[in-house]
Amino acid sequence: MPRYSKILVASPRSKFILVRCPDCGNEQVTFTQATYSVTCHMCGRILVKPTGGKALVRGELLKTLD
Ligand SMILES: [Zn+2]
Repeated sequence: MPRYSKILVASPRSKFILVRCPDCGNEQVTFTQATYSVTCHMCGRILVKPTGGKALVRGELLKTLD
């Protein structure tokens, strides 16, 4: 009878964050490990820009959500 080993799935280090758009003040929830640019829903300004695996937050980081 085969023994099943526990496979640990590495949890992603990325988190959800709440950022505020510096242009229009819109608050929006996004991901810290964005593979694409995140734009403001209201005015279209780039809020999060991907920089080689790490996301660069261009807006105001209000809080981190787990
Ligand atoms: Zn905006």
